[in-house]
Amino acid sequence: MTVLKIKSLSAGYGDIQVLREINFSIKKGETVALLGANASGKTTFINSISGLVRPIKGEVYFEEKKINNLPAYKIAELGLIQVCEGRNLFPLMTVEENLQLGAYIERARPNLNKNIKMIYEMLPILYERRKQKAGFLSGGEQQMLAIGRGLMSNPKILMFDEPSLGLAPIIVQMVFEIIRKIKEQNITILLVEQNVVKSLKIADRGYILENGKIALSGEANKLLNNDKIRKAYMGI
Ligand code: ATP
Repeated sequence: MTVLKIKSLSAGYGDIQVLREINFSIKKGETVALLGANASGKTTFINSISGLVRPIKGEVYFEEKKINNLPAYKIAELGLIQVCEGRNLFPLMTVEENLQLGAYIERARPNLNKNIKMIYEMLPILYERRKQKAGFLSGGEQQMLAIGRGLMSNPKILMFDEPSLGLAPIIVQMVFEIIRKIKEQNITILLVEQNVVKSLKIADRGYILENGKIALSGEANKLLNNDKIRKAYMGI
């Protein structure tokens, strides 16, 4: 079943058009990667889904309901949850308080205790640090907390905006392992990333964004073997 469908989406800022006629879809339980270089429009794309950027043209459908006119908080309430950047946590609140905030969405509130337990099991470092202020965590721990907070919202689709950005290689590896664990729980995932190879190894399908347009799309393993992608992103 298709849960997210995007039809001819164009978006930008004032006179600057960034995205051009994007068609995109995700089925329930799929992990789909949207990949592209710097400034190709990845953040604009994810923000157009979560309601932070208004499309110039085109439509976004979630579970067959048109959502591109809804305010961002309503889109989150429907279960489309964007993992915030690690730096956007509440630095003076504890790890546990930050997690609890993820359950502010009505449909997630009854599951608060169950979800915190599940997240502490999946990310034991957050249990160890639960009484510490989020601002004192390392970059990698903050990213894990941001992911945990996203999971606290009982996402129907969990959307990652460059979760590996600015992290050391060993932490990047950990973040991708966490995403793999989330995928194993059959949570639907949209992964927006620059790290083409690592993302395609986790994803079921991928889309390559170049200058605001989808240049290529298909099954992840086929894209990994595609000559154009191997040349452009793997140097082989
Ligand atoms: P990066 O990986 O560098 O974050 P990206 O693929 O996420 O890049 P976007 O952040 O979507 O790309 O930016 C696409 C283009 O839109 C860039 O040229 C950027 O300068 C421009 N842009 C982004 N945000 C704004 C804004 N608020 N106002 C004007 N232009 C913007």
